[in-house]
Amino acid sequence: MLTKPVTEVKGVGEKFAEELAMMNIHSIGDLLEYFPYNYNVFELKPLSELIHDDQVTIIGKVVHPPRLSFFGKGKSRLSFVVEVENVAVQAVMFNRAFAQKQIQADDTITLLGKWDAHRLQITVSYYKKGYPDQQTKLDPKYTVKGKVTNARLKKVIEVAVSQYAQEIDEFLPSPFLEAYKLPTRSDAVVTMHFPKNRIDLKHARRRFTYEEFLIFQLKMKLIRKISREATKGNAQLYDEEKIKQFIESFPFPLTGAQNRSLQQILKDMRSPFRMNRLLQGDVGSGKTAVASVCLYAALTSGKQAALMVPTEILAEQHFASLKESFAEKAKIELLTGSIKGKKRREILEKLENGDIDFIIGTHALIQDDVHFADLGLVIVDEQHRFGVEQRRKLNEKGLDPDTLFMTATPIPRTLAITAFGDMDVSTIDEMPANRKPVKTYWVKDNVLDRVLQFIQKRVAFGEQAYVICPLIEESDKLDIQNAVDLYHQLQEYYQQELNVGLMHGRLTNDEKEQVMQDFATNKTQVLISTTVVEVGVNVPNATVMVIYDAQRFGLSQLHQLRGRVGRGDQQSYCILIADPKGDVGKERMHIMTETNNGFELSERDLQLRGPGDFFGTKQSGLPEFKVADMVHDFRALEIARNDADEIIEMQLLEKDPAYFPLKKYLLQNDFFREKLD
Ligand code: ADP
Ligand code: MG
Repeated sequence: MLTKPVTEVKGVGEKFAEELAMMNIHSIGDLLEYFPYNYNVFELKPLSELIHDDQVTIIGKVVHPPRLSFFGKGKSRLSFVVEVENVAVQAVMFNRAFAQKQIQADDTITLLGKWDAHRLQITVSYYKKGYPDQQTKLDPKYTVKGKVTNARLKKVIEVAVSQYAQEIDEFLPSPFLEAYKLPTRSDAVVTMHFPKNRIDLKHARRRFTYEEFLIFQLKMKLIRKISREATKGNAQLYDEEKIKQFIESFPFPLTGAQNRSLQQILKDMRSPFRMNRLLQGDVGSGKTAVASVCLYAALTSGKQAALMVPTEILAEQHFASLKESFAEKAKIELLTGSIKGKKRREILEKLENGDIDFIIGTHALIQDDVHFADLGLVIVDEQHRFGVEQRRKLNEKGLDPDTLFMTATPIPRTLAITAFGDMDVSTIDEMPANRKPVKTYWVKDNVLDRVLQFIQKRVAFGEQAYVICPLIEESDKLDIQNAVDLYHQLQEYYQQELNVGLMHGRLTNDEKEQVMQDFATNKTQVLISTTVVEVGVNVPNATVMVIYDAQRFGLSQLHQLRGRVGRGDQQSYCILIADPKGDVGKERMHIMTETNNGFELSERDLQLRGPGDFFGTKQSGLPEFKVADMVHDFRALEIARNDADEIIEMQLLEKDPAYFPLKKYLLQNDFFREKLD
């Protein structure tokens, strides 16, 4: 029944059905599940209890008939006075000139709108003559398009609900319904549209939140399971004794979190299933150290390993440090875009013959002519810099190699479980003990002189500084500090006192390498740079990070930049030069000065920006939920995840009649039909 077209609903003709189709409402079921995005709330309170700037409801008697005035281009303003509890309240309504005739002196009227407690004024968003209907304390507000109005849609849904709501079948397994005390699907649909009170509404929302999450998690669970079982077997039988010795050769013991993550990864590598794991940890938490143990594990099991990073600087740096830590133990090569001709051919040949154990590189690793003898492990650093397609290409280089993605942009727990629902996640949530938190300050640019003096002071102690500018070329539009200009300016300022280096994306690779090397060896003490140093660069002697126009960066990027200092034993400093105009910008600067913890920061960034913006537009990959809010309903998401695991692991869809309706429901969907047979 519910799959029948909306035209079956009384009062819906072909014309209206066409309009509804534009809103993706085709069947009766679609209409019933087209939930309000919000509700007008009629909740009467004494005037004295109304809160400034809140949405409020008041009932009063119209004292003067409305006065209409026009302003701007076709804009109108209707104002009148209503008497509420013997107080004269000013009411204003914008662009509803037609209401002038409907509202008369002595009318009793219910007004809904934004309350200005100082001026005793309400900006009306909704009005109703007479008293509010007690039945509709919560009046649905629908997202509408085209010619469809809220009132019309509400009416049609009302009809559909009374005609068809009883036909909505329950499909959630009864054990869950009972355990979580969820209303039935049919009751919950009715309540979503026409809630009797807030409590019922809460439970109806709870039901749909759980329903959406459960289905989502079932999908993720199936993806994880299938991708594991589809692999042909790549058990890396590493040498535990050698690994132990390798770890003992580190100048430090691993932290508890490093150890735990390492064990999770090693277990995956040993299993015949393909690893698909994300290793997340704050900048400097020691992910690279863990990764080097994994590389070594692959080596002891006789496999090759590849490490892919987003920039050449980073590739070179990893290459140098791995060569140092492995010395004679492994044959390591570097492959980047600037390695060409004969040198490149030699490397490719050796790679294919198995004469290379580890290859470190950039996108150059995923060219079609790169072949491996026996690739066992792929590690992708700063994974968010790579697209899905690039990651897939690297994976195809070996027969189901184990894959480890690393990210220093901690993903809030809330998003990790959704955005990376198809991956296993290991988290390093503990910093090495010797770390001193970076002291962070936010200043305006009128204290530039003091900042420069501060740098000079730190340099006198033998330390070094980064100065970051947002862009290399001057843009009229953005009025951005120009790195080149700044470079000359600082050279002038410091004269012979210290040496200044300049790094930006326009330099050739050789030039970049030279600049980095000069800084790493303290030939230059201050490095002016664009954000190319953002990821992974490791110069422990640098203790000062100055960021110009800090308001132009997102929180996670600022945190990444800050992570370039505080890598040694000395106290480090981060100075944000910023003059943000909006509240969000100011809030960002405050958050930076308040916390050094990347996870906390990412949670707060998420609060500020919302899940859609968190990853930026490029790679969101976040699922969309109708009712559920993955940030606020995080607990439910976790519960649904466990339930989904149980359903699949115990094969309940096949074995337990309480789960048959769920299976039937899932089979209506292409994804599930294919995966569940
Ligand atoms: P990440 O890759 O997470 O940014 P790294 O692995 O590069 O972090 O580690 C940052 C610095 O901390 C390096 O200099 C590394 O040698 C050091 N380090 C790593 N693990 C530890 C540890 N358990 N104790 C002390 N120092 C560590
Ligand atoms: Mg790193």
